[in-house]
This record gives sequence, C-alpha cells and structure tokens, in this order.
Amino acid sequence: MLRTTMLAAARSSAVRRLVEANPLTRTVVDRFVAGADTSAAIGVTGRLAEKGLHVTLDHLGEDTTDSRQADETVLAYQGLLAELRRAGLAHRAEVSVKLSAVGQQLSPDGEKIALDNARRICESAAEAGTTVTLDMEDHTTTDTTLRTLSDLRVDFPQVGAVLQAYLHRTEQDCRELAREGSRVRLCKGAYSEPASVAFQDKHEVDRSYVRCLRALMEGQGYPMVATHDPRMVRIASELAGSAGRAKDSYEFQMLYGIRPAEQQRMAEDGERLRVYVPYGQEWYGYFMRRLAERPANIGFFLRSLLTR
Ligand SMILES: Cc1cc2nc3c(=O)[nH]c(=O)nc-3n(C[C@H](O)[C@H](O)[C@H](O)COP(=O)(O)OP(=O)(O)OC[C@H]3O[C@@H](n4cnc5c(N)ncnc54)[C@H](O)[C@@H]3O)c2cc1C
Repeated sequence: MLRTTMLAAARSSAVRRLVEANPLTRTVVDRFVAGADTSAAIGVTGRLAEKGLHVTLDHLGEDTTDSRQADETVLAYQGLLAELRRAGLAHRAEVSVKLSAVGQQLSPDGEKIALDNARRICESAAEAGTTVTLDMEDHTTTDTTLRTLSDLRVDFPQVGAVLQAYLHRTEQDCRELAREGSRVRLCKGAYSEPASVAFQDKHEVDRSYVRCLRALMEGQGYPMVATHDPRMVRIASELAGSAGRAKDSYEFQMLYGIRPAEQQRMAEDGERLRVYVPYGQEWYGYFMRRLAERPANIGFFLRSLLTR
C-alpha cells in the first residue's frame, strides 16, 4: 500500500511540485545529493578528496525508456569523466553506472544496447585514468548484469561488480568473483525482493553478509565493503586482518551524507573510504523510488539527518 502510494507520488508532477517547494526537502536533498550538474559533482569530489576520501559518482537518471535517453546518460558520464581528469581528480574518483540507465530494459535488445553503452563509458573512464563499477538492481537483472560485467572485463579488467548479501545466491557469486584483480562491492541490498530469492529476516541478511565477506576477504580479489553498519565494518576489518590483507587491498564504502563523521574518522585511521555520491537533476524520482522500494529507507534517511 505504502509502496504503491510512493510509486504513484514518484510519477505525479503535482506531488513533485509540492515536495520540491517544501523547505525541508532542500535540506534532505542537499545532504544526500551533490547537486544538479557536473560542476557541483566535481566540487563535492574535490572537497571529499581534500579530506582524504575517495569517491564513486552516480549520475541520477530517470528510468530509461528510449535509446536517446540512454545516449544522454552516456554523454553525461563522458563529460563527467573528462572533467574529473581536467580537475586532477581521476585518481580519487570512479563512476557507478546502473545498466537500466543505459538501456538494459529496452526491448528487444536491451542487453546489447546496455553493453555497448557501458563499454563507451568504460573507454572514457580508461582515458581519464579511472574505472567503472556496475551498480546492481533488482534480482531479475542479476544474471544479465553479471554477464555484461564479464564481457566488459575482457577489455577493462578493473570494472567493478556489486553483489547483494540478501540474495540466497550471493555467497556462491562471491566465491566465483573473488579472483585476482576482481573488484567486488558487497552491500546488503536495497530492493524489495521475494522470499523465493532473498532472505527476509534482517539477522539472516547480516549472517549472509558475514559469509560473503569471508569469501571475498579470503579470495584473491579486491573487496569493497559497502555498509554503514558498525558491526559489519568491525567484522570486515577482523576478516581482512586474519586473511593477512594490507590496507590497500580492500576498501570501505558509504553513501554521501550518511555517517559523514564516521567516514572521516575511518579515513584518518588509515582505511581507504570511498563515498558514493549521486548527482543530477533527477533526484526526485531517485528519492521516491528508493523510499518506495523499501519503506525502511524512509527511516534510513531520516535517521541520518539526526545522527553523525
Ligand atoms: C557505497 C554503496 C553502494 C551501494 N550500492 C548498491 C547497489 O548497487 N545495489 C543495491 O541494491 N544497494 C546498494 N547499496 C545500498 C545497500 O544495499 C543498503 O541498502 C544500504 O547500504 C543500507 O544497509 P547498511 O549495510 O548500510 O545497514 P542497515 O542494515 O541499513 O543498518 C545497520 C546499522 O547501520 C547503522 N546505520 C545504517 N544507516 C544509518 C544511518 N543512516 N545513520 C546512522 N547509522 C546508520 C545503524 O547502526 C544500523 O543499525 C549501496 C550502499 C552503499 C553504501
């Protein structure tokens, strides 16, 4: 019910005007989104880099419904990557790309369109001296996304994967992807998934996260530990220690605006900490869909307004 209402609100321009006019909205959006355009994204990246943090930038887009929109997304990433290079920030920042934003859902050959478009972004990233991570979306896209990842890695071995600990399959995926040079971001998962494919109980998800962490830390790849959960952060550090990993052989990742003081503290402690920074004009749809996907996200964002 709540989900349906939020999704309807995401599509309603009247609700959009109402939400955008609310002064609290600006506070929330400024806290979690770097700004509307490339220069705002570069500005935030520069400020985070000065504090010793690393960044991954996500260009916010609406659900891509035609190939022109997918093309615009590619151009936005290419412009961003060129600016990162010009600003001397490419060693500090990579980009995160959703395959749905570059055409994965277009029929009949969305998978090929998305692969070609993602390849163009990877080429620009390589020219700029950085790389790309493919965000993971709902479970219906997991196989396609992993296929695209493996195609891209033939020419761009640095392309990062994302795996979601709430899926039953993920521990096995972690073992398969924990190969030499393989960058893998592990998150809990943000979508509303059925019991047939995903753990429903929070403790089950946490237990799965730890099993997946163990597989990644004991493997040969480069684990990217994406969580704000202090328990998972501690366990990841312990597992890295017992696997004999150096600090530069894995990293932590958190979202822009969420536990910023902790992000800074970890970086000062010598951890590599990467901040996921969304930017772009389409923050409204992004927010409403994130909230609709998982009502717990409402608490997630509100809580971070109250905590440091
Ligand atoms: C860098 C990054 C990239 C991501 N990429 C993807 C992706 O590609 N696909 C995908 O499905 N999901 C992605 N996610 C989202 C992820 O799946 C989770 O939905 C989200 O991170 C919440 O899970 P959590 O592990 O942070 O902790 P939760 O289980 O939400 O919270 C556990 C504990 O963490 C602490 N905490 C959590 N949130 C806050 C807060 N706001 N303020 C203060 N303390 C807090 C609290 O102690 C809380 O009890 C990504 C997350 C990050 C950080």
